[in-house]
Amino acid sequence: MSITAVKGMNDILPGEVETWQFLELSAREVFGLYGFSEIRTPIPEKTELFCRSIGETTDIVEKEMYSFSDKGENSLTLRPEGTAPVMRSFIQNRLHNLDPVSKLYYMGPMFRYERPQKGRYRQFHQLGVEVVGVEDAKIDAQVLAMLHQYFIRIGIDSVSLQINSLGCPECRPGYRQTLISYLESRLDTLCAECQRRYQTNPLRVLDCKAQGCQAATVDAPSVIEHLCSPCNDHFRQVKSYLDLLNIPFEVNARMVRGLDYYVRTTFELVTDQLGSQNAVAAGGRYDGLVESLGGPSLPGIGFAIGLERLVLMKGEQRISAGGPQLFIAALGEEATERAFVLMSQLQAAGVRAEMDYLGKSLKAQMRRANKLNATFTLVLGEEELESGQAQLKNMSDSSQSVVAMDSLVAMLTEKLG
Ligand code: ATP
Ligand code: MG
Repeated sequence: MSITAVKGMNDILPGEVETWQFLELSAREVFGLYGFSEIRTPIPEKTELFCRSIGETTDIVEKEMYSFSDKGENSLTLRPEGTAPVMRSFIQNRLHNLDPVSKLYYMGPMFRYERPQKGRYRQFHQLGVEVVGVEDAKIDAQVLAMLHQYFIRIGIDSVSLQINSLGCPECRPGYRQTLISYLESRLDTLCAECQRRYQTNPLRVLDCKAQGCQAATVDAPSVIEHLCSPCNDHFRQVKSYLDLLNIPFEVNARMVRGLDYYVRTTFELVTDQLGSQNAVAAGGRYDGLVESLGGPSLPGIGFAIGLERLVLMKGEQRISAGGPQLFIAALGEEATERAFVLMSQLQAAGVRAEMDYLGKSLKAQMRRANKLNATFTLVLGEEELESGQAQLKNMSDSSQSVVAMDSLVAMLTEKLG
């Protein structure tokens, strides 16, 4: 039996990889415009990094991590998300000494042991950004404006922005207690999972997908109504800056994030096109995270976009790679050799050129030129070698023109390069 890939982990094949490249390149362009630089961190990290940052009682740490012992018996984990590794690197490399405001982005695979389904995989890819060093609400709005701009750039408009504030260590404990008391009075209608976690992670009940939990929390106390006055001011400012920039949004007081480090502004970009996997991007503030990982006391904010979900949404609008600009069809040994040299010269000069390697008939070669979607074809046979001239055929309108062989490279690089 042949060996297959690990369950929930996908190959990205030619034909779809062009869409990925488009999404990645667009991110580099847009994030670059806003002053972000790329950072690349290793895929495994020490397990404790994620336990300490994401939180022991979160879904990720409780059940989704790919953790293993290496040969030195160190517990390592394939990164389930990007923020903790980037902050680890930020602290380790003292990036705050280089610039008081760090704007970083990353892209690459993440790993979570989840039940694979459409839009949910065990190896998936995120594109994320982080800003460290700014508490001002302008940066929250700018990060959201950049996210908005990215979606415009990639041509996906069927998404909406939901924002919320989760408060801070001053006001959240009070809210948490209020919520726990509220949940206690409706315990029997919660799902088993939420009955288990309502005391350790009560906020998570608010975004549980089980019907009973949703019904039970319709009238749950709202986090926004329990914000302390600095958090309230900050949230008000975020909203007014978003209005100022004409970024549409909706406040969703029930949106909580599944990671413990979030404070104040949190957000999700949601779509109704992907069934229950409705979040295409998510993020928020993590003002205490850098310090809790042993770094300086600096605020931070960021988001991560799930690339698989974007690719699914691009669907029919798939990006395709361009076919060859020139396909050289050759007949006979001498002409084939000439075609081979010509093709190499053209490729070196920046023209996408292609030929047949399988000894096919002229007819089959023309069929292949068609299939590859070549812009032009050139037929080389004995006659052409003798006369020093060949027919260049424009495949879109079948028009032909005669070209001189010795000026072919110069003429084609001029025309196509
Ligand atoms: P969800 O609610 O869908 O489980 P999440 O809150 O766990 O998402 P985050 O940790 O905030 O997601 O990750 C940001 C984005 O990464 C998500 O909005 C989603 O687009 C994508 N994502 C998360 N988990 C997966 C996965 N297992 N497979 C594919 N994409 C994922
Ligand atoms: Mg999840």
